[in-house]
Amino acid sequence: MALLSKLPHIGTTIFTVMSKLATDHHAINLSQGFPGFDCYPYLQDLVSEYMRKGYNQYAPMSGVPILKNRLAEKTENLYDVSFDPETEITIVSGATEAIFAAVTAVVRRGDEVILLEPAYDSYAPAIELNGGVPVYVSLNLPDFSVDWQKVKDAITDKTRLIMINTPHNPCGYVWTQNDLDILAELIEDEDIYLISDEVYEHITFDNRNHLPLFTHPVLKEKTFTCGSFGKTFHITGWKIGYCLAPKKLSTEFRKIHQFLTFSTSTPMQYALADFMKEPSRYLFLNEFYQKKRDLFCEGLKQTPFRFSPTQGSFFQVVEYGHLSSEKDFDLAVRLTKEIGVASIPISAFYHDQKDHKLLRFCFAKDDEVLEEALGQLSKATF
Ligand code: PMP
Ligand code: GLN
Repeated sequence: MALLSKLPHIGTTIFTVMSKLATDHHAINLSQGFPGFDCYPYLQDLVSEYMRKGYNQYAPMSGVPILKNRLAEKTENLYDVSFDPETEITIVSGATEAIFAAVTAVVRRGDEVILLEPAYDSYAPAIELNGGVPVYVSLNLPDFSVDWQKVKDAITDKTRLIMINTPHNPCGYVWTQNDLDILAELIEDEDIYLISDEVYEHITFDNRNHLPLFTHPVLKEKTFTCGSFGKTFHITGWKIGYCLAPKKLSTEFRKIHQFLTFSTSTPMQYALADFMKEPSRYLFLNEFYQKKRDLFCEGLKQTPFRFSPTQGSFFQVVEYGHLSSEKDFDLAVRLTKEIGVASIPISAFYHDQKDHKLLRFCFAKDDEVLEEALGQLSKATF
């Protein structure tokens, strides 16, 4: 008897597919988004220290208090917004868990959830597994800003949730105050919640500031903010993230979290709490990644691709529609095999695999690796 799939149209994620292809062909892997450099030795030392001190059993379900306090302090200091660490901050096993738990807390059978496409790949499956119905709204090309009229048109009596991602993966768009204001006006009197995926919070460019949705008082009341330590401290493999949400929302969120994973790695939480005492350890990221973005974009000028420098995240999207009509997936595979540089085809972030002839490159790599990849990309043929 065949097991009836709950996600019949879903295969293996594009990140796994392209990373494997990169490995198989010894290509430079600019596909899956992870830093190509290690985390700070001091952070590793802290983890060992806490392990040796015996912090090796279950952490409290909602996270260790000292780490939740640190997040509350950070949010207060950076954005002048308060979250109660006891009732409104939950530490989870990566932003992926935060997103799944928040979707599960809100979405009931038949509820509609608005997704802005291209959309991160974990959103739609989380909605579908909860019996929700994804409603897709395309972002504007070429800058991937939000078409507010389209969002307004997509809202119905059944709309229960809107998924937001700023800075945006894969396209880098960073939400403006105007975006926040319009969204607040649209949902203020509606029974609609928000999940704001802000994992690239500290990676914005050209003096742009990340604006968390919770900085808007109307939005704060309705938003589950999902964050990840993975992007901020170069530790994507540790899978630690968090959810900030008002008490009523956090209470429901925790009911799901406690049966998904219950709690998250104890020594890592203590280590991160110590490490985060010094804000310069995350506030330098904008400048650090801006140099990499600039290096990558400068080099891209020597390639046949067209692009606008990304506003945020550690991804750069390039366009090749003026060169060929080859499918983006086929091109990503061909470039991996022929010139040894792996990327992600943007069609993977559209439910109908819409192909705008765009590829995404991750520039969170050592400069020498980026330079080598750029040299190879300048040899791309069409
Ligand atoms: N959201 C976005 C937009 C991401 O890019 C990622 C991963 N890079 C995640 C969520 C998942 O984060 P985590 O690895 O902490 O689960
Ligand atoms: N978020 C990473 C990316 O966008 C990948 C994470 C994963 O592989 N699930 O590339």
